[in-house]
Amino acid sequence: MPPARTDYVFRNWNGSIAVKPDHFYQPDSEAEVAETVREVASRGGILRPFGAGHSWAELVPTDDSLINLDALHHLVSVDAARKQVTVQAGIRIEKLNDLVAEHGLALANVGSISQQSIAGAIATATHGTGLAIGNLSTQVVAMTLATADGRLRRISAARDPELIAAARVSLGALGIVTEVTLQCVDAFRLHARLWPLPFEEAVAQIDALIHAHDHVRLYWFANTDVIQVMTYNRTDEPRSPGMPIGDYFRDVVVEYDFLKFLVENSYAFPGLVGPINRFANWAFRWTKVERVDRSDRILNIPAPPEHDECEYAIPVERAAHAVRLLRRLIERTGYRANLPVEVRFVAADENMLSPCYRRASCYLGAYTFGEQFAQPYFAGFEGLMASLGGRPHWGKTFHATRDQLRALYPLYDRFVAIRRQLDPAGVFASPFLRDLFA
Ligand SMILES: Cc1cc2nc3c(=O)[nH]c(=O)nc-3n(C[C@H](O)[C@H](O)[C@H](O)COP(=O)(O)OP(=O)(O)OC[C@H]3O[C@@H](n4cnc5c(N)ncnc54)[C@H](O)[C@@H]3O)c2cc1C
Repeated sequence: MPPARTDYVFRNWNGSIAVKPDHFYQPDSEAEVAETVREVASRGGILRPFGAGHSWAELVPTDDSLINLDALHHLVSVDAARKQVTVQAGIRIEKLNDLVAEHGLALANVGSISQQSIAGAIATATHGTGLAIGNLSTQVVAMTLATADGRLRRISAARDPELIAAARVSLGALGIVTEVTLQCVDAFRLHARLWPLPFEEAVAQIDALIHAHDHVRLYWFANTDVIQVMTYNRTDEPRSPGMPIGDYFRDVVVEYDFLKFLVENSYAFPGLVGPINRFANWAFRWTKVERVDRSDRILNIPAPPEHDECEYAIPVERAAHAVRLLRRLIERTGYRANLPVEVRFVAADENMLSPCYRRASCYLGAYTFGEQFAQPYFAGFEGLMASLGGRPHWGKTFHATRDQLRALYPLYDRFVAIRRQLDPAGVFASPFLRDLFA
């Protein structure tokens, strides 16, 4: 195994977290992952895994040792009969989407981007939208975990139901995931549709919309009275023709690059946030309102500016009430929300630390560009979400305490006990995770 690097600096996606660990490992094989764990454990160190660094929460940082599995990015096997694929844990979801498509398969759902590693995305319960579809962790049927004793353990839903319910959403606290077996579905196309509705009309229709469509996403730009409704439904229609240059200019250059420029500048001129939001909302009329494409290409969106995010899952029954309350909060306080509030829906599941544990959920996302805007906005937002029984997205900004989290997750103590059993010396426990699970 090559020696650890000592000059590596980890930065997350928007640069809000930076850390220079004493040791950085990038193994080439599962055996090297296990060897790294043994090496760090034997000197009493801390080892934290990271994937694409696309999280805002302080899940990764430690001064001691970081490990990244980018070199483990291959397809291991395909079980065509079961529609299951086994991949190395460092694979990026975008590559995985292409690989499974070659075998006539697809992930049942993906989030707004696919740049994350599969292990990193699963570890925080990364989700898309669709009331009948669970988050990505629910698609895991087996995995290989390098545990603190330096062993490689293959665990599966069939043989180890409790352990896998803990390991699916683990925040990297139980060990280093080296391989993942995912339940896929037959490849499918989606028909995307986008239309604006007056705020109250859209909110009143949430329940009907989420039951009538496979996937529903809502965007509300603060300072406007409009909600952009996006629905995506399975279809046999052929893929829409490629984006002509005019559409590309409209959708990507105007909608994203120009707005990105405005959003970034609204930080220097806070008075511009309202007008920019109204402009962004108005500019949506230019985006292509109907499109058919491969599922992941429809569900993914172009890369947004490097902003901050805070997102909570609340019981789906409270969705309409919560959206109204959030609007009231932003209007009363004047929080600078220079990116839209996003509303998505996810099925209930059985994974111990999944924000959707035993409840179908509405995810409300508060996004903004600029740290000084984010701090007060997120504090108010988190207070509101707490009052609605919200569970934070583990990968995004959150300040919920261990006691609050214990109250929100019926199996929190069980997860903590499993963590202690698998990692008694705390090899994977950074200060942030120690606060949560010690
Ligand atoms: C632009 C953007 C858009 C996003 N869109 C969505 C979205 O639509 N839906 C959504 O739910 N989230 C979304 N996210 C959040 C993102 O999906 C999660 O934060 C995800 O965990 C990031 O994956 P990653 O590979 O970057 O992992 P990292 O951020 O590097 O790590 C995340 C966690 O995984 C652990 N981990 C990483 N690799 C391993 C491993 N091999 N073994 C064990 N643990 C490991 C880490 O220790 C850490 O706890 C978005 C983030 C960004 C920046």
